[in-house]
Amino acid sequence: MTHAGDAAETVEKQTLKHATHWIAGKPWDGTGERHGDVYDPATGQVTGSVDFASPAEVDLAVAAAARAFPAWGRTSLAKRASVLFAFRELVHTRQAELAALVSAEHGKVASDAAGEVARGLEVADFACGIPHLLKGGYSENISTGVDAYSIRQPLGVVAGITPFNFPAMVPMWMFPIAIACGNAFVLKPSEKDPSASILLAELWGEAGLPDGVFNVVQGDKVAVDALLTHPDVRAVSFVGSTPIARYVFQTATGAGKRVQALGGAKNHMVVLPDADLDLAADAAVSAGFGSAGERCMAISVLVAVGSVGDELVSKIADRVAKLRVGPGSDERSDMGPLITGPHRDKVASYLDSGVRDGATLAIDGRVHPVIGGMKGAGEVGGGFWLGPSVLDHVTPSMSCYGDEIFGPVLSVVRVATYQDAVDLVSENPYGNGTAIFTNDGGAARRYVSDVQVGMVGVNVPIPVPMAYYSFGGWKDSLFGDTHMHGTEGVHFYTRGKAVTSRWLDPSHGGVNLGFPVSR
Ligand code: NAD
Repeated sequence: MTHAGDAAETVEKQTLKHATHWIAGKPWDGTGERHGDVYDPATGQVTGSVDFASPAEVDLAVAAAARAFPAWGRTSLAKRASVLFAFRELVHTRQAELAALVSAEHGKVASDAAGEVARGLEVADFACGIPHLLKGGYSENISTGVDAYSIRQPLGVVAGITPFNFPAMVPMWMFPIAIACGNAFVLKPSEKDPSASILLAELWGEAGLPDGVFNVVQGDKVAVDALLTHPDVRAVSFVGSTPIARYVFQTATGAGKRVQALGGAKNHMVVLPDADLDLAADAAVSAGFGSAGERCMAISVLVAVGSVGDELVSKIADRVAKLRVGPGSDERSDMGPLITGPHRDKVASYLDSGVRDGATLAIDGRVHPVIGGMKGAGEVGGGFWLGPSVLDHVTPSMSCYGDEIFGPVLSVVRVATYQDAVDLVSENPYGNGTAIFTNDGGAARRYVSDVQVGMVGVNVPIPVPMAYYSFGGWKDSLFGDTHMHGTEGVHFYTRGKAVTSRWLDPSHGGVNLGFPVSR
């Protein structure tokens, strides 16, 4: 007998999406023991489920990659580049679809999701040039009749573990280059927004990539731990929060792997007294609240030097009042919801703790209207909403300054001098990005040189390097020594071999037990 309630539940189950692993060129057809929910952050509703891989499923993916690697690693550069070009074209053609998947599960607005796909595509563009990037050196006659050259070879099976906030771009920082270099790749995307990874896997297949060269395992810590210690995984690229980045680095290097682990951030924007304050206010609002502040390069601390603080906060307040907060699917929205209910509540808790610690709540995002009057956090059926907020008169001892909040909360710290600003930024344990706003070229040049941070913007609030440079922070924002993409990415996914070669000359001969020296 079917009850009406059962029927409704059946319909709902049918419309729920299901994300699973991608192994050896196709979706996994097994039945997982553990699953997670995927949400629409704008409504708080569960829209899908995602399988959580056990170590056995990770084994399957790594084994598929290990089988595919030898042939792919030997495939000519011309053929590899042609697959990269085809993949690049397919992602370009399906850009809107990919962006819509990202927006639906992450909550970011459509233009922002399209932007992340575009920035990921730039890495695929870069990887199309792999024949040039893998050129080695050659020295003729290093000794009489002896030549030397260097080559770079792929590592084998490499893994990528990625965060929720860029489900298309961050994986694309890694795998186009890894695959172009001749490796086989296993991606473990965030369990919060898994669908983009599966579309990307399908596009690799359409592009002609042999089965098994690109695989996806969905899941959580269990899948990550299996990858970090798997004997057939040669290298691990990780992007996520600092505690997990540190753990990934320690565990995987302990298991003998090459590791680059990018962590969290606290990015400061320094505004000098001579700066154009309208430009600075525009930049602070864009970089502080774009993607609801859930960017590793978001500006989370504004450092007002001298007496600019009051005017700057007032200009920011004017701009924030005009920001439209709403669902990513609504074209009018400038800013979407946060990723989950607990994360939204944690971010909002800093507004209270900041005030308790002595900061001033200049703008309270909890009362910012949401387009369509959507239900807010805490209401039944509500989305994970929190509008843009500004905490003023923040000091370094407050937890709203010390912690990575990862939401739409901008802290304003006031300092007296340029040197106070440099010291504040350089003493922060994170060192991902920073920006200086000024019209004084000499001061900007000095800041670029002085500041202990990996990526610096001059009148540019989010200085994310182009694909042909490398992305990475310093200090607690990166464990390992190789940044992502650009030539450092090529270096990470290959190892060097130096060859010394002599073709026998009939006139040459004789035994010599001495250590080889040039003659
Ligand atoms: P996260 O650290 O919670 O998760 C990142 C990945 O690690 C996910 O795939 C997740 O499944 C996995 N993971 C989570 N907990 C784990 C555990 N205990 N053991 C093993 N694996 C685990 O990060 P997130 O919340 O998805 O992403 C936001 C964070 O990522 C922020 O801290 C942000 O600054 C950072 N981030 C940094 C960069 C950068 O370039 N430095 C870029 C994007 C995001």
